[in-house]
Amino acid sequence: ILHFRIAPISKGDKHYGFIISVRDITQTRQLEELRYQFVSNVTHELKTPLTSIQGFVETLKDGAIDNRDIALRFLDIIDIEAKRLYRLIQDILLLSEIENMENNYGMRIELTPIIEEVIAILQQEADKKQIEIIFNHTHDIVFEHASADYMKQVMMNMLSNALKYTDTGTVTITTECRNDEYVISIQDTGIGMPKESLGRIFERFYRVDKSRSRKSGGTGLGLSIVKHIVELYKGTIKVESTEHVGTTFTITFKKN
Ligand code: ADP
Repeated sequence: ILHFRIAPISKGDKHYGFIISVRDITQTRQLEELRYQFVSNVTHELKTPLTSIQGFVETLKDGAIDNRDIALRFLDIIDIEAKRLYRLIQDILLLSEIENMENNYGMRIELTPIIEEVIAILQQEADKKQIEIIFNHTHDIVFEHASADYMKQVMMNMLSNALKYTDTGTVTITTECRNDEYVISIQDTGIGMPKESLGRIFERFYRVDKSRSRKSGGTGLGLSIVKHIVELYKGTIKVESTEHVGTTFTITFKKN
């Protein structure tokens, strides 16, 4: 997209010529477009739980409150939706915080205890689904300047996705050091994803299966938060997946 501006050069009522400036505003427009899309997605995502909360409150007021069982069921839904709303707001704030963060934010941290902590938090959920979590730490990963909170968030989002989208089998986390790179992989034996989705899963609010994501409490922002944090520390994230077989995410950082 080219933007033209013409300005006359004149002194008093004498005209000497024109200055024509041409500016390529493609990138600015694309950024504006992305921002606009994000705002409209956020609005939609926030409205969904709110509309549901309002609906159930109305129904309760209209008489459902007199039946204790129904009332309790509706209150449960209101509770779940309010919690979703809270998670959404937290994730949106976190994303914008990461976007404005300097890449040397943080201190010396070790990844192994962070991963162990996240596994401990999610162990119960894994047990409930009879999924085995395996942690192969071939190498201890150390970051000289990183945020423990952010790294915990990365591992939390990756592992909870692996559990959410796996019905049975194993989730394997491997940390290795290859040449001058740290490699973290998270592999599951879950539902996988169709090829055409793989390029889009890191987009904000993109979900392969909206209803499955909703049912398990997803905000659609988890992977986009992960990608932002990984890129903040100059890392990369890749995904390989086969439907009904499983998914492997590979995160790579330059060794510091
Ligand atoms: P959500 O909150 O929906 O899980 P994410 O940003 O974390 O949002 O993930 C985006 C989408 O990518 C998910 O809705 C899901 O369809 C897909 N996805 C993420 N991780 C996995 C996985 N391990 N296996 C299969 N699909 C996955």
